[in-house]
Amino acid sequence: MSEEHLCVRCARLGPTCCQSCQIYVGPGDAERISQYVGEPVEAFADFRYPDDPIYLTAHDDDPIWPRTVIREDGHRRVLNRRENGDCTFLGPTGCRLPLEVRPLVCRLYPYDYNQAGIKPRLASGCPVQLLPPGRSLLQELDMNLADAERWHRMLYDEILREPHARLDDLPPGVLPANGATNAATNAPAGEASGAGNGTSDAAAAAATEKG
Ligand code: SF4
Ligand code: SF4
Repeated sequence: MSEEHLCVRCARLGPTCCQSCQIYVGPGDAERISQYVGEPVEAFADFRYPDDPIYLTAHDDDPIWPRTVIREDGHRRVLNRRENGDCTFLGPTGCRLPLEVRPLVCRLYPYDYNQAGIKPRLASGCPVQLLPPGRSLLQELDMNLADAERWHRMLYDEILREPHARLDDLPPGVLPANGATNAATNAPAGEASGAGNGTSDAAAAAATEKG
């Protein structure tokens, strides 16, 4: 690994994913963060309209996402940000939340995904031009597919619990036969160095897609 973490070098280039993105907070995220910080969800998140309205129409391959995460008025629950755009949990040395408490979209980034699973191509927001020769982005971020798949299952289980979900509006066959996969098998993982948020390829440049 290079002497400096990729995310540190990324921050020198300009706003990072933790400084420029709206981060979706699902029902499970809200509970975990609330318990960790000792405050109600209203203290760190609120329902907001997307910075980039393309977010509302960028889910053709993921019909469950807009019907669970996004309310009918286009708002979804996202982390608060400071006036300069920084995530409310961004500290001087990175995220102040332990990995197992961070929003699932943060844990998953830069993996890209839909309900069917993790996509083969990563999201495009990380500065891959800064990678040391011979190192992959996932190696530099200390990420692996097994963790990503587990967090993906948690995410798609937990969005079904959104109080504003409109599941009766889903096309046939989209919901798993039992209504959800098994969230109980998704034990928290250990700490890792990556930070970020989820994106989808339809609007990766805006870096706000799953957030
Ligand atoms: S995860 Fe990617 S975009 Fe986010 S800070 Fe690290 S290198 Fe930058
Ligand atoms: S990784 Fe942490 S600091 Fe970065 S956007 Fe997610 S919660 Fe905020």
